[in-house]
Amino acid sequence: MTRLQLLCTGTPAPLAHRGGSSYLVQTEGETLVFDCGPGSVRRMLEAGLALPAIDHLFLTHLHYDHCVDYAYLVLTRWDQGVGQIPELQVYGPAPTAHMSHQLFAANGAFGPDLAARTLHPGSHFVYETRGGAMPRKRPDPQIREVEHGNRIETSGWQVDVAEVVHVQPQLTCLAYRLTTPDSTIAFGGDTAPVDRLTELAKGADVLLHMCHFINGAVTDERLTHCCSGHLDAAATARDAGVKTLVLVHLTEQLETPGVRERVLHEVGEVFDGQVIFGEDLLEVPTGTINMEPVR
Ligand SMILES: [Zn+2]
Repeated sequence: MTRLQLLCTGTPAPLAHRGGSSYLVQTEGETLVFDCGPGSVRRMLEAGLALPAIDHLFLTHLHYDHCVDYAYLVLTRWDQGVGQIPELQVYGPAPTAHMSHQLFAANGAFGPDLAARTLHPGSHFVYETRGGAMPRKRPDPQIREVEHGNRIETSGWQVDVAEVVHVQPQLTCLAYRLTTPDSTIAFGGDTAPVDRLTELAKGADVLLHMCHFINGAVTDERLTHCCSGHLDAAATARDAGVKTLVLVHLTEQLETPGVRERVLHEVGEVFDGQVIFGEDLLEVPTGTINMEPVR
């Protein structure tokens, strides 16, 4: 059974209770993470996840609120895996490979750290004490840069890729549709309302959609043409015919008492499916939500 958990549901604005974007999927013995914004590795630990267990990482785009924990995830997974786990499989838009190289190459940001951890006797001692066998290899995440229309297929799941409209041309932003034997989950990434996302999310069990502002309260097209508000998320969920809409990429303003309720009410006027207001560490049902009365 596929399990979906929200790790981080916030924005670049730092909040103690919301990290930057990150979502966890566990299916058929594999663990997938979509985006790894600030605080996401900490949330993985809070979720009880062993970092070496993460097999695949998908990046929607390289805004730091979606990827700044990438280095932390790769380094700590590599360190704790002591050479006994496969390399992390990473999928993202260009220039994900270049970013990764800049982080982990010998002349990269963590080049001196990796030199010390692979060459210094003190690090050898710790590594061997943990069960590692020499020589110690450096981390080598396997990057596959993807683009609109690509499909990633394994024996247990497939992911379809669509490019959405965010902050091009500086950054390409992707959305992903994950299909497992029992669930379909669409990760909308950061986007303005766009037909490509509606198409990608058609009939999905769950759509995770950016809800960055209140439509009507923000009208400046510089923002509305690159991000989505609550009614944009609702309309996409309705037009795509998804079963459950999860509002994510939430600001503190959206959860002000009264505002949150208004947001949910107005979303419900557009979209008559299940709606969830995202919270860090919330487990999201991929099927019908049980509406039994309290016993
Ligand atoms: Zn963004």
